[in-house]
Parts: sequence; structure tokens; C-alpha cells
Amino acid sequence: MAGRPSDMEILEAVEAYAGRRGIAARLTDPGAPDVTWQTLLDFRIVRSIETRGERPMREPGGQDGLASRPTYTDIATHPVAPPSDPEKTEAWLLVRRGSLDEERCANCDRGTTKCGDCEGRGVRDCPRFVDCPVCEGGPDACWECEGTGRRRAGRPARLRSGAPSARRATCARCRASNAACPKCTGRRQLDCPDCKKKGHVQCGVCDGTKRVTHQECGGTGRFTVWTEGWIHQNPHREKERRLGRLDLRRTTGSVGRWQETILRRATDKLPDDLDEADENLIAPHLAPRKDEVARLATLRRLPLAHVTVHADPHRDYFAFPSHAGIEVTTRPTTQRVRYFAGIAMASVALVALVAVLVVALLR
Ligand SMILES: [Zn+2]
Ligand SMILES: [Zn+2]
Ligand SMILES: [Zn+2]
Ligand SMILES: [Zn+2]
Ligand SMILES: [Zn+2]
Repeated sequence: MAGRPSDMEILEAVEAYAGRRGIAARLTDPGAPDVTWQTLLDFRIVRSIETRGERPMREPGGQDGLASRPTYTDIATHPVAPPSDPEKTEAWLLVRRGSLDEERCANCDRGTTKCGDCEGRGVRDCPRFVDCPVCEGGPDACWECEGTGRRRAGRPARLRSGAPSARRATCARCRASNAACPKCTGRRQLDCPDCKKKGHVQCGVCDGTKRVTHQECGGTGRFTVWTEGWIHQNPHREKERRLGRLDLRRTTGSVGRWQETILRRATDKLPDDLDEADENLIAPHLAPRKDEVARLATLRRLPLAHVTVHADPHRDYFAFPSHAGIEVTTRPTTQRVRYFAGIAMASVALVALVAVLVVALLR
């Protein structure tokens, strides 16, 4: 790719770097090691995808804001501007021209209906009398007549054992003294405190007005109907990345002089010096999508050279273009990393084995 240093420039840079680490290696002599190139790749594309549709609407009357909404005639072709930035989300709500109308509510009379709780009477039934809470409306109302007014013949009045006579009243029915319940004085029942013996109370749902607000039309007595069109523009993202060794990414990401290509139109071409394999990887992501209205694709590439220095066999050397020239860095070879990981694992196993032996010997 363009902007890639020559193998000789890379070897010179690695040789100087190794020399500073105390490794004397003549990399630029004939028979020098090979330079293996790879290209780090960071590709992203964000498209603005537009979706459109329409739906019938019916809301309680008095939708005053609708008249000022933008209108359309054909939602499929109604023109809206593509977003300046495909990352942005945009939405339009429109009214189809000529569709805005008002309908009378068929289920009410100017916004109210008959109160269902009192069936339009404004009152509801209430018993005129209630049982006395003290004698519970039973025979205890009077010990002489049990609240009937007829004294029992030939039988003595009930013994008032334990009940002080002061707590009994004269019966309003049979006139016996010290015999009646002090609350109802023998009548068993009291006038209803709710309706004051009238037999009905005001309906609490309609407050006596006999009518209630019709919820469906919001009390307006009509509906606003229209056809609503909507257009949404939403970002859709894809990416394709090949960032190389994990332990190199921080360095290549911060120091590398990445080559950047920006594509804003579906007709914009990928760079000519892109490897065929990479082009095959990225091209499918660039195919125009249905309903795509804007795009921004960014391709970033960094050539990365891998050099093996024979005088330092356990390390890999890497070099890549940076803003200061050529950046060289080194990492333990992956075999070396595995080797030390193996030693660490073996140490753990050994410690465990020793522990088992010690336990066995102590028993
Ligand atoms: Zn209604
Ligand atoms: Zn009585
Ligand atoms: Zn009573
Ligand atoms: Zn009552
Ligand atoms: Zn009512």
C-alpha cells in the first residue's frame, strides 16, 4: 500500500532499535531476515436508514395542534432532506392533506352520558332505618317485650343480673321501665343517619347531576380523525476490524500513522492499493441498502512489519509508520509467552503436589 516504508527502511530502524537494547544485529547485511507485512484494518460505516408509513388516527376532539402540522399527499414520495450527519436520528409526523375531519361522538350527548351508577336519577336508594348498633336489632331491645310492644304474659321480667339498671331505659313500645336498650329504647332500629329517613341519598358519582363526562371522547362530544404519515431516519452501524496482536493495539492505535479514506456516497470508490482480500471483506458492507438516505464510511489502515532478529530469538520486533518516522517496538514471541505461562502452570501444579505430599507425610 502507498505510504508503506521499504523493507530496507524497516530493517534499518529495527537494527538501530535493537542496538539501543544492547542486541548487536546486522539486519541490513546480505542474507538479512525477511520482513513480513500485514495491514491493520479498522473499517466503520454508518448509514441513515429511512422508514415511512401511515396510519388512521382518531382522538378526542379539540386537537388544535394538528392544523399547524406539515401535510403530505403521498407518503412514499414526500420529500424530506437527508440528515447532515448519518448518526443523527430524525422523525417527522405529518397529516395527509384533506384527511383532517371532526366526527360527532355517537355514544354521548355533547360530551356527557347518563350516570350509570344511579341510572340517571341523581340519587340512590338508602334504607330509612338501620339496626341499633347496641342491641343489634334483636330481642335485647327490651327485656319485657323484645321490641314487639307485647309484654310476655305470666312470665316475670328477665333477671337483670350483672347489668346495672341505670343502663336500661324505659321501653318506648311497652312502657316497661329499666328494660329497654338505652340507644333505641326498645325500637330495635334507628333512623338512618345517611338519608335521615328519606330513603335515598345523592349519587356520589354524578353529584346529583344525573350525567357524567363521556371518557371516550374526553367530554368533547366529538372526535378528530385524520391520516397520519410518519418518516423516521435512524442510524445503522457496521464495522470490520483486524487490529492485530492484542498487546500491540495500544501502541499502534496511539502512535501509528493510519491512512484514512472517507466515503460519503455509494459511488465513492475504495482506494486502489487495497489488498484484494481486504476489498472482498469490505465491499459487501458498501453495497447500497434499501431506504438508505445518507452514509459515512471510514476506512483506516496501518501497514505493520514483523521482523525476526536471530540474535534475540525470544522476541518479535514490530515496525510501522508513525508521525515521527518509523516506530519500532518488541514483544515476547507467542511461543515465549506460552513457555512462561507453562512454567507458571507447572509451578502451581508443583506447589499443589508438595502440599499433598506434606499432608500425606504428616498423617
Ligand atoms: Zn362522547
Ligand atoms: Zn318493651
Ligand atoms: Zn337498641
Ligand atoms: Zn338511609
Ligand atoms: Zn349518578
